[in-house]
Amino acid sequence: MRKIVIAGNWKMFKTQAESSEFLNGFLPHLEDTPSAREVVLCPPFTDLSLLSKSLHGSRVNLGAQNVHWEENGAYTGEIAAPMLTELGVRYVIVGHSERRQYFGETDATVNLRLKAAQKYGLTPILCVGETKQQRDEKKTEKLISNQLEKGLVDVDQTNLVIAYEPIWAIGTGETCEAKEANRVIGLIRSQLTNPNVTIQYGGSVKPNNIDEIMAQPEIDGALVGGASLEADSFAKIVNYQ
Ligand code: 13P
Repeated sequence: MRKIVIAGNWKMFKTQAESSEFLNGFLPHLEDTPSAREVVLCPPFTDLSLLSKSLHGSRVNLGAQNVHWEENGAYTGEIAAPMLTELGVRYVIVGHSERRQYFGETDATVNLRLKAAQKYGLTPILCVGETKQQRDEKKTEKLISNQLEKGLVDVDQTNLVIAYEPIWAIGTGETCEAKEANRVIGLIRSQLTNPNVTIQYGGSVKPNNIDEIMAQPEIDGALVGGASLEADSFAKIVNYQ
């Protein structure tokens, strides 16, 4: 019933030449990937046009890493939803912790971006998650519950993916225990009106831990950073057991 979505978030990595090289190594591995598994690549904006052409006819969906809430306007440095859909983009990451931490994203702007994405038919991937300090202070549940409550006001839960990304597990090699990720994702699901929302885990997902993560009953996919940059490792993740 719930869709499995494995997405690679390339963050600020890969020129067009590097993304072409990645695809040459990655696409042949998808022949054996179960068709029910949705595969998504979220490159930097500058790679979208090239990937849109290169992925045409393949089973890989294109995603962006952010979207502005206005359709157009004087917003230097921002990208609007119609610019993404024109390129065949289907998914967009919203509220990644790096956006919240370094670029001042708030639950209110996250909410605006989610609604704008949906208005133009994009499926947003809403990222939520706690810092190490918040976890140590036992504030994880409250923090995530707040992010969901504020972020999801008037958001359509039939066209939504959520990614639980504990910030202390991002880029650190320190994965959240699969059972603990499963527990938190269960709590996230209990706060949704639609129980069928796909909820991913993100944070140091690698070929050697994807099987255990995907074996958890509440976890419907992964949002992969570092390990999605290398064709062989992302292929192993997508082709988990
Ligand atoms: P890593 O897989 O590099 O820890 O990054 C996770 C992430 O932030 C995906 O959005």
